[in-house]
Amino acid sequence: MRVCDLIERKRDRGRLGGAEIGTLIAAYTRGEVPDYQMSALLMAIYLNGLDDGELTAWTEAMLWSGQVLDLSHIPGAKVDKHSTGGVGDKISLPLAPLVAACGIKVPMVSGRGLGHTGGTLDKLESISGFRTDLSVERFLELVETLGLALIGQTAEIAPADKKLYALRDVTGTVSSIPLIASSIMSKKMAEGIDALVLDVKVGSGAFMRTAAEARVLARTMVAVGEGMGRRVVALLTDMDQPLGRTCGNALEMVEAIEILQGGGPPDVRSLTLTLARTMLELGGVDPAEAERALDDGRALERFRTIVAAQGGDVRQVDDPSLLPKAPQVEAFLAPTSGYITAIDTQAVGLAALVLGAGRQQHADAVDPRVGLVLDRRLGDPVEAGEPILWIHHDGKGLEDARQRLAAAWTIGEAPPAPRPLIIDRIDRATPATPVFAAAT
Ligand code: URA
Repeated sequence: MRVCDLIERKRDRGRLGGAEIGTLIAAYTRGEVPDYQMSALLMAIYLNGLDDGELTAWTEAMLWSGQVLDLSHIPGAKVDKHSTGGVGDKISLPLAPLVAACGIKVPMVSGRGLGHTGGTLDKLESISGFRTDLSVERFLELVETLGLALIGQTAEIAPADKKLYALRDVTGTVSSIPLIASSIMSKKMAEGIDALVLDVKVGSGAFMRTAAEARVLARTMVAVGEGMGRRVVALLTDMDQPLGRTCGNALEMVEAIEILQGGGPPDVRSLTLTLARTMLELGGVDPAEAERALDDGRALERFRTIVAAQGGDVRQVDDPSLLPKAPQVEAFLAPTSGYITAIDTQAVGLAALVLGAGRQQHADAVDPRVGLVLDRRLGDPVEAGEPILWIHHDGKGLEDARQRLAAAWTIGEAPPAPRPLIIDRIDRATPATPVFAAAT
């Protein structure tokens, strides 16, 4: 097989065969196909899409690039959640221990920051010592004994996604329905779960800008998962503004701990509980248990336990002021008076990224300390010259971040209509034609 033939064929809107896809992904995972050729193919797929058959073959090849776990020896339902990516989306941090505290097993394989969105692994690593690169044996042991484990794609689990995810992050090939669907479903199906809840983000901070696009992505992933014999439910949720008040790794960890302590911003609490109830429903546990376990401290205690088990410093959970902090904080001021009518949420995510909260190149390290704390939300009144948000920084990328933020806010004379946080629910019963998207 000549990789260049596949690139040219996809560039010219042709089809890739199932066997070709299998051979290509296996060779790429082994390091036998260079990143420059895979980048070109990813861009051709970004532009021209994959049809149903190609998407199934691509997802299965990614799934079988590593081990597919069998958790059947572990008693209880195994249910996970995955988000398609947003700004300030720290939900997995309180959600996984909350659901585990309710008796469901949560074997969670997450990602790092992707494009302008943050990643669960980067947020977890803001806790000193926290290890997300556990062996399969340790991962299984923690799921069995503590009810959860939080890791990234490894050389053993979803290695093709580990490489493709990092490559897409820096080649402008993230917001593609087939590439997102195969990335998410390959690693989730490798976890050995019975059921999956997908949080499909919609809006200016999401990869899907409209509810129509998000529905196609949701139906695509539900169809892939149900086709592989798992229960999959997708919720479409609002990403037209950052979730909660914080964007940036340690700042988001602080907010996640507030949620586990029974406080935190109402939207973060509400989405955490909605997703938890959906996971419990799929796992056969009374959904009302979610609120009880959050408010009686069981979820927080489970988080402390998993932080300790994965090498993290529990003192930072007990006292979040010990988490890393940026050396400087500056206010970002409202340019005019009025109501906040729109937020370019991608620009807010990119402002956090250029401060160092995300990566501009493959090998970049993220800075856990930097990010943004928002004082205002959509519909809030502002006076010219008062702070809208606070920039936590160490000088790096500051001017770039300021410029991105300056263009991100629309201030008008009247507040916009309130928007629902939960937009839709897509289940296997939801009519779905066409199921798979040819392109973005
Ligand atoms: N989350 C993933 O795991 N993969 C994507 O492509 C997007 C979000």
